[in-house]
Amino acid sequence: MNTSILIVGTYEFLNELPQIHEQADFSLEIVTSVDEARSYLRRSLPDILLVQASIHNSEKFCQWSKEQSALNSPYCILLEDRPQCDRHSCTWDVEQTAAIIEDVADAYIDFCWLDNEKLKATNRLILAHIQVGRRNQYQELIDKNNTLSAIALADPLTQLNNRRAMERDLPAQILASRSNKKPLSLLMLDVDCFKTINDTYGHLVGDRVLQLLSSRLKHNLRSQELLFRYGGEEFVIILNNIDCQQGLFIAERLRRQVGEQIFTLDSALSLTVTISIGAACLQSLDDRGGIALLTRADNCLLSAKVAGRNCVIGCTEQLCATKQLAIAL
Ligand code: GH3
Ligand code: MG
Ligand code: MG
Repeated sequence: MNTSILIVGTYEFLNELPQIHEQADFSLEIVTSVDEARSYLRRSLPDILLVQASIHNSEKFCQWSKEQSALNSPYCILLEDRPQCDRHSCTWDVEQTAAIIEDVADAYIDFCWLDNEKLKATNRLILAHIQVGRRNQYQELIDKNNTLSAIALADPLTQLNNRRAMERDLPAQILASRSNKKPLSLLMLDVDCFKTINDTYGHLVGDRVLQLLSSRLKHNLRSQELLFRYGGEEFVIILNNIDCQQGLFIAERLRRQVGEQIFTLDSALSLTVTISIGAACLQSLDDRGGIALLTRADNCLLSAKVAGRNCVIGCTEQLCATKQLAIAL
């Protein structure tokens, strides 16, 4: 991938960087003043900044460049060519380097009084820093990308994975289950008469009930049983390596764990909350995306509501197979 480098310095300074010119995968731009560099950065963001320290306000510019971008700021390398860094006058020292790296730039390189050999070595050092800068930026991007993905897949109210996460995970779980020749079940849960809780106690209490319910469900599931908030007061659980019969058993256990223990909202308010559950298990003719599986679970959930709520209805293996046959015919 191309590395974009903005050089802030004179053309004479640029001539001192022959090895940087020679890199085919570098795209170089040069500006000769800090003001030009500022306007450049407002238009586009290079990967690397190479700044000649003797340019007026070079350090201020390096600091400013770090504050500009909400996303990745360029990796800033300050090349010290000011006369005070002449080794004979002894100001080039470790403390100076530390101070620059702490407050000004990502890297600080001595660029004074270079003979040919030292110039070559310094060019190599700059190239090494450019590599470090690129690596850091990739890592920062990966970290930020991971954070954004986590936000996109999490439900802010319950901290559970959301429907988008389920739509991403279900096809992968189906694929794994088929490759490993293991069963897979899916539960769809819905809180009974939740509207009444909202209407009676208000939406904030409703929200708290959803949070308490989510953590109760989570605590009663194993780590390979994947819980998602599917919609308002609806949840989906993917059960790996669980067949139809076992799926029904887990659903019934969860139904009891929710309905048979009160939810304490505060010292003055405790509520009994019940759930209805539809259970389905993966069949050989089901689609890879899980639509058929979800639809069967949803239909069973509807049947559970019709049957009076606070109950589990599931497709037994035989029933699912019969239905599948009917669809196939
Ligand atoms: P049923 O037993 O048939 O499922 O009845 P229900 O009252 O639970 O179902 P209904 O679909 O009529 O109502 C669901 C309610 O859930 C309506 C909606 O306002 C509420 N709801 C959805 N999301 C949230 C949420 O995040 N917080 C709160 N407090 N309420 C929510
Ligand atoms: Mg409901
Ligand atoms: Mg509902």
